Amino acid sequence: MAKVAFLGLGVMGYPMARHLKAKGHEVTVYNRTAAKAEQWVAENGGRAAKTPREAAEGQEIVFACVGNDDDLRQVTLGPDGAFHGMGKGTIFVDHTTASAEVARELYAAANDTGFSFIDAPVSGGQAGAENGVLTVMCGGDEEVYAKAEPVIMSFARASRLLGPAGSGQLTKMINQICIAGLVQGLAEGIHFGKKAGLDVEAVLEVISKGAAGSWQMENRGKTMNQGKFDFGFAVDWMRKDLSIVLGEARKNGASLPVTALVDQFYADVQKMGGKRWDTSSLIARLDK
Ligand code: NAP
Repeated sequence: MAKVAFLGLGVMGYPMARHLKAKGHEVTVYNRTAAKAEQWVAENGGRAAKTPREAAEGQEIVFACVGNDDDLRQVTLGPDGAFHGMGKGTIFVDHTTASAEVARELYAAANDTGFSFIDAPVSGGQAGAENGVLTVMCGGDEEVYAKAEPVIMSFARASRLLGPAGSGQLTKMINQICIAGLVQGLAEGIHFGKKAGLDVEAVLEVISKGAAGSWQMENRGKTMNQGKFDFGFAVDWMRKDLSIVLGEARKNGASLPVTALVDQFYADVQKMGGKRWDTSSLIARLDK
């Protein structure tokens, strides 16, 4: 069993830290809004720290899951950041969806001070975190990853090292590219079905068994048809992820015309008041 800390008890971090505790690890938590950390300790035991630095002191592995690149820099490199408290030979595992650039920057900063960094964004959403069945995409050094993997598996169904620092974030970008175009296709199909006067639920039931089937169709088709979006993965988060994707594509020369277009469609959804709606709300701008 390991001595670990978890920084950022949001929708994802809160249950991820809970799974670490349930597997028997010794867990210290930190959250910017301290009340949430206190609530976590009241529910799960363990200890709450006042700063990321204090949380990191004396741990073998420190996990984080915060919002974006700037938030991540703040909890690692900031004045009371975790990197000032990391011991030699320890590991920092970051589950934030962030840029490959910040992953490489933090990898280098960690190595300079004698500890290691793994970028490890996740897929599977709130339900995946609650049920401990996330997919984790990692970048970093093999021997470091081998040490962290058994602990990561406390809240994951699958975890894999994809290459050097930044490779986890690049893999997560591919994940989001694949989702963006697919959800727009599904939205157009359902919108067309309504206009054609078909029983869309029956249509989805039959075509989901064939070549058009997908996770999105299985899990979101029905609610898209009903116009329900008050759950799931928020449009604001998706736009953050797509801006990371498009920034990386500008650097590596990848051509992503559909992803760029869908990003603008999500901007329309934000203007319609859908900042916190699930990503399946792309259909709302077609049906309006
Ligand atoms: P969330 O519920 O908004 O939680 C964000 C957490 O980060 C909170 O604990 C927040 O603290 C903390 N935080 C943010 N900025 C901070 C800062 N500058 N300093 C210190 N703490 C800070 O977000 P989430 O849904 O858990 O998502 C977290 C990450 O996972 C994001 O990168 C997201 O893209 C990614 N992700 C989310 C999902 C999903 O379905 N939600 C799925 C896959 C990946 P406070 O409590 O004080 O605000």
